[in-house]
Amino acid sequence: MNNTTPAILFETIEKNFGSLKVLKGITGEINRGEVIAVIGSSGCGKSTLLRCFNRLETIDNGRLVINGINVSRPTVDYSQLRQLRTQVGMVFQQFNLFPHLSVLENMTLAPRKVLGKTPKESAQLAGLYLEKVGLFDKASSYPEQLSGGQKQRVAIARSLCMNPQIMLFDEPTSALDPELVGEVLQVMQQLAAEGMTMVIVTHEMQFAREVANRVIFLDKGVVAEQGLASEVLSNPQSDRLRIFLSRLN
Ligand code: ADP
Ligand code: MG
Repeated sequence: MNNTTPAILFETIEKNFGSLKVLKGITGEINRGEVIAVIGSSGCGKSTLLRCFNRLETIDNGRLVINGINVSRPTVDYSQLRQLRTQVGMVFQQFNLFPHLSVLENMTLAPRKVLGKTPKESAQLAGLYLEKVGLFDKASSYPEQLSGGQKQRVAIARSLCMNPQIMLFDEPTSALDPELVGEVLQVMQQLAAEGMTMVIVTHEMQFAREVANRVIFLDKGVVAEQGLASEVLSNPQSDRLRIFLSRLN
């Protein structure tokens, strides 16, 4: 694998939950260093697509190659899956921090257990990324002592401790009070500027316009429109996207 291998390659992928067809043949590729915003109405399959991208869900049909690892087959070997999980970081709407662990313990757990780092190495790493998200002084705090925005910045920093090559964000600011959204978007913007490959499900269109290279508009399980963020968001071609965008304003 080299830098010209797409970060994520997906061809006519399908995902069903029983008789419910959620992804109905989705094709595209995400290149290294690209920032992709995935937009669409509630229930259209955004989270499912993202969860396929780190194999929290398996696809039913099509081809999906993540960071050079083909995960299309129902059985992927365990060591590859493990590799994939360290290479692809995910940040959720609800932060998913462990409430009974301090910020530092939240951040050092996976580097110790999965990457085999020593407590000292993992603490150094955690310090580095806490600094990056502006929360170095919160290392010994517990999640309940933090604001929503701080929790989400810790969650991002925790992901970065695994040194991922791709970061997936599923509505990272949707659970936040409006005044806390900016501090999280700012951290994400910085990551994007540093060249991180990012796939972001978001309803923050201003952010998508400024930070995303490309936008994918999902509608009822298909890609209804995609292209450069500036073009797709400023000049939607379909009625569905026009209606979707007008509802957000
Ligand atoms: P979005 O993130 O765009 O709101 P989702 O990907 O979460 O949409 O969900 C798409 C559809 O799939 C919805 O109808 C949802 O109810 C359904 N769905 C998602 N996950 C599951 C699951 N694990 N089991 C059954 N249905 C699911
Ligand atoms: Mg969702």
